[in-house]
Amino acid sequence: MATLSPVLKQATPVLAARGEGVYVYDEAGRAHLDFTAGIGVTSTGHCHPRVVEAAQRQVATLVHGQYTTVMHRPLLTLTERLGEVLPAGLDSLFYVNSGSEAVEAAMRLARQATGRPNIVVFQGSFHGRTIGAASLTTSASKYRSGFGPLMPGVAIAPFPDAFHYGWDEETATRFALRELDQVLATVSAPADTAAFFVEPVLGEGGYVPANTTFLRGLRERADRHGILLVLDEVQTGFGRTGMFWGHEHFAGRPDIVVTAKGLASGFPLSAIAAPTALMEKAWPGSQGGTYGGNAVACAAAIATLDVIQDEKLVENAAERGKELLAGLREVAARHAPGSGPGIGDVRGLGLMAGSEFVTAEGEPDGATASRVQAAASRRGLLLLTCGAQGQVVRMIPPLVVTADQVREGLGLWAEAVAETLP
Ligand code: PMP
Repeated sequence: MATLSPVLKQATPVLAARGEGVYVYDEAGRAHLDFTAGIGVTSTGHCHPRVVEAAQRQVATLVHGQYTTVMHRPLLTLTERLGEVLPAGLDSLFYVNSGSEAVEAAMRLARQATGRPNIVVFQGSFHGRTIGAASLTTSASKYRSGFGPLMPGVAIAPFPDAFHYGWDEETATRFALRELDQVLATVSAPADTAAFFVEPVLGEGGYVPANTTFLRGLRERADRHGILLVLDEVQTGFGRTGMFWGHEHFAGRPDIVVTAKGLASGFPLSAIAAPTALMEKAWPGSQGGTYGGNAVACAAAIATLDVIQDEKLVENAAERGKELLAGLREVAARHAPGSGPGIGDVRGLGLMAGSEFVTAEGEPDGATASRVQAAASRRGLLLLTCGAQGQVVRMIPPLVVTADQVREGLGLWAEAVAETLP
């Protein structure tokens, strides 16, 4: 008899039988309020009827039209539709299956287009689990440890993580940009640097938003040195932050965008977009994959875009996100760290909201975060942690979440925190 490998670490004990909207139902029929959305994937909610219908229709028509063998309509239509929402000038794209693969693809493209080997990443970033993407990942050692050597040619500069450094945002940003200049002066010369890879909001690294000065600073340095700016919008894209792309909050101007997760409501699909002139520098045949741009996934993605637009989910994410952050701040104010652990910071953007737990001494407190997460789970509120020590409990509900459901989640959260903290 086979059993599931213990290498997979499960965040909750729930055995899901079905999902509907913002709820997951276990085999006993108990409803769980899902503020994980399958790690930020099911933005249109579980089993949105329009996504289900589109996928069912496509399953009965053509499942696997292999895009380097025969082209298919869902992929062409999706490409046209993405053209309407992609950042200006990023008019050429292709598809693979996961965020990690898309990051790998962006890395290959950046190296081929510039003829340069190195990548600069920012401390606390998560870009994926394949060896290349793991080499760019610095959000926690478990993503890098024990299976090296990882890819050479990666330099790490600080992210403006003000809370972590104990500074205000302006000081943290000045520090981050100065250190980036030092990295370019000492470790990875501009002539060797193909790209900066950055998340508009550190996701797995602890829900830390970037800011306008930082992204402008990256853009300015990229332009000055002929380095490409790659924005990893895998977690922040498709309305998650209350704008269609996370970088729009900060006037970011990417050369390459990587997207996955919310793109297809749970079907495996990811995309890499860049200006045609840049894509033309890639060597034909050097990208692709057997399953990339699967027809059912593409049909689901088209329906996802329809739902996002028709149900105004980007606007909903902005409104509900404000309510969520305000509610989390109220709970945090009642549980500030003092003689014991508490919530040291609440931050986020749109429906990406995190509460950071710290010890009485102000150190990251993963143990308390994990107890609160478990207490929430017992009450029927599904949550995940993030941050290097797992010290941040994050909320990433589907973008269809209502004001009532946000209130329901906050009520359960307040109970879970009160039960755990003295
Ligand atoms: N980039 C970011 C910003 C992510 O959040 C993730 C997944 N958490 C990935 C890349 C990797 O995506 P996948 O798990 O689909 O490979």
